[in-house]
Amino acid sequence: MIPYGRHEITQQDIDAVTSVLNSAFLTQGPVVPSFEAEVAKFCGAYGAVAVNSATSALHIACLALGLQRGDVAWTTPNSFVATANAILYTGAKVDFVDIELDSYNMDIAQLERKLELAETNGELPRVVIVVHFAGQVMDMMRIQSLAKKYRFKIIEDASHAVGSSYQVRNSTEATGSNKDQNNWVKVGSCRNSDITIFSFHPVKIITSGEGGMALSNDPELLDRMRLLRAHGVTKEPENFITQALGPWYYEQQVLGFNYRMTDIHAALGLSQLKRVELYVERRIQIARKYNSLLQHLPLNLPQTADLQRSSTHLYPILCNDRNTRRRLFETLRTAGFGVNVHYMPIYQHPFYARLNFYPGYCLKAEEYYDRAISLPIFPNLCFQDQVRIVEQLENFFGSRK
Ligand SMILES: *Cc1c(COP(=O)(O)O)cnc(C)c1O
Repeated sequence: MIPYGRHEITQQDIDAVTSVLNSAFLTQGPVVPSFEAEVAKFCGAYGAVAVNSATSALHIACLALGLQRGDVAWTTPNSFVATANAILYTGAKVDFVDIELDSYNMDIAQLERKLELAETNGELPRVVIVVHFAGQVMDMMRIQSLAKKYRFKIIEDASHAVGSSYQVRNSTEATGSNKDQNNWVKVGSCRNSDITIFSFHPVKIITSGEGGMALSNDPELLDRMRLLRAHGVTKEPENFITQALGPWYYEQQVLGFNYRMTDIHAALGLSQLKRVELYVERRIQIARKYNSLLQHLPLNLPQTADLQRSSTHLYPILCNDRNTRRRLFETLRTAGFGVNVHYMPIYQHPFYARLNFYPGYCLKAEEYYDRAISLPIFPNLCFQDQVRIVEQLENFFGSRK
């Protein structure tokens, strides 16, 4: 079976992990801070906090932004359940904003309408979690201007978008020749958000086995997340609330968790980070080949918006209707291709259905879900396998050329 996504492990990765195994620290050693520093540098963020999963990163990001019982946070229904679960962990309520059918991302016009309504009802969200679905970057400047107007905080769930970047208009030097210059900004820079989180699960862009990271430009948020990552305990004398009772002293200040990443995982992540640009480039090449090989078939192919470079984590195609999707899905699985569907709208899971969401709550997300299939895409997918998938699709539609 050719899966929809797969990691690549090199001898360099193995050597990096082995050297940690032979060292004095398996966890809480020097490799985790190096990994954090390198990811922050790669993205252009002030700092980063490594944790054992993106789910943990989302949880402590929500808590650091003050999300709690009595609050509400909004996100997209077209994501992995972890995005919404993290909101519920804090005791806050979750609500969903429908997607648009060209990027499959949250529809910002819908977000704006929902915010206007929420303001009159006094139910504005404290946090909005945007997801850069499949690596496609949301218009973060529009989101940020809404955040200023309606006073909510922004978390970017960039689990799909490690290595994605977007162009921003250079507004700071609005004089002379710089006036019309666009700058490239990496997702993770948090230029237009409070916190960005990454996943390093093996199906994602780079992997640490399991792992995640939260990036921010706000030192206070980073400190809070660091505290929450490790039991709410600090060992830094300058941060103590009470006076140190001796050199052994540490204190717990909030109710935290053990969400630490091990140095073993960090070594793998750090080694993989060296190949992130290569991986994104290979994914983009594979998507381009699909685009040209599939254009004559009755399918909607993913579009990449202007002014950005998508990490191309997924390649979702849309059939014309749900019955075709079902038959095509089964045909491809039978032929040995591990196609998948990303995602069933989160609120359609039985757990969420109990929370007062109903069929038709987000019509476009449901339509997308009925028609979508994610084709295999990963750095080591070879051209011959891609051609075999395309042949299956051509046979299915009876339009072999
Ligand atoms: C994979 C994923 C997560 C969860 O990542 P883990 O590292 O497995 O916890 C969260 N959000 C999105 C959009 C994801 O794709």
